[in-house]
Amino acid sequence: MLRIGLTGGMGSGKTTVARIFEILGVPVYNADVAAKKLMQEDEGLKSAIIQHFGIEIYPDGKLNRGYLASIVFGNPQKTALLNSLVHPVTIRDAAAWMKDPCGNGILPPYAVKEAALIFESGSEKNLDYVIGVDTPIALRIERSMKRDGISKEEVLQRMDRQMDETEKLSRCQFIISNNENDLLIPQVLSIHQHLLKIASHTH
Ligand code: ATP
Repeated sequence: MLRIGLTGGMGSGKTTVARIFEILGVPVYNADVAAKKLMQEDEGLKSAIIQHFGIEIYPDGKLNRGYLASIVFGNPQKTALLNSLVHPVTIRDAAAWMKDPCGNGILPPYAVKEAALIFESGSEKNLDYVIGVDTPIALRIERSMKRDGISKEEVLQRMDRQMDETEKLSRCQFIISNNENDLLIPQVLSIHQHLLKIASHTH
């Protein structure tokens, strides 16, 4: 089975692309969703977060996400500290998921891990190929503002923390262009067929 990464900057359309893979029957791991779940359920991670950020983060044992966000937002040191706690646990969880992505012991030809930070966290080491979603910055800003109901300044501030997009895309073996001219579905289909072919040769 091939282990495929799917990445791209904030608002590039990773989740949208991931949904097309899912429709094709490909198992998809969403690192963002998994990280949120792990912060709530992984006891080791919870105690590390409490140790560094205080017990107030988990009033009644439940994560107060808004409070945690208010502490780390705009503070690069605290963001880096939180990431250094959450990323290794999520990477381990994704690697475990990749061993049985369908949850039934039957391996598909390939499985996809969707994550904003693949190269930043070094998790490409656990992947065979990485697909990058290439979206013009103006569209990413516009779509993120609309989706999250936040200002352009806030979007730019969040984007600032991510790796340079050109560098990120240059490290991907497949690129999907998500602009207003290229259709997503044919591009995903073409990569899907390509990956099925590679997977059939590697077995
Ligand atoms: P993030 O990393 O910020 O969570 P993402 O890369 O997963 O973002 P999506 O959530 O898939 O990006 O897309 C961002 C927004 O842009 C969503 O509201 C999505 O519906 C919209 N969008 C993405 N691609 C397209 C497209 N081709 N046409 C129209 N809208 C799109």
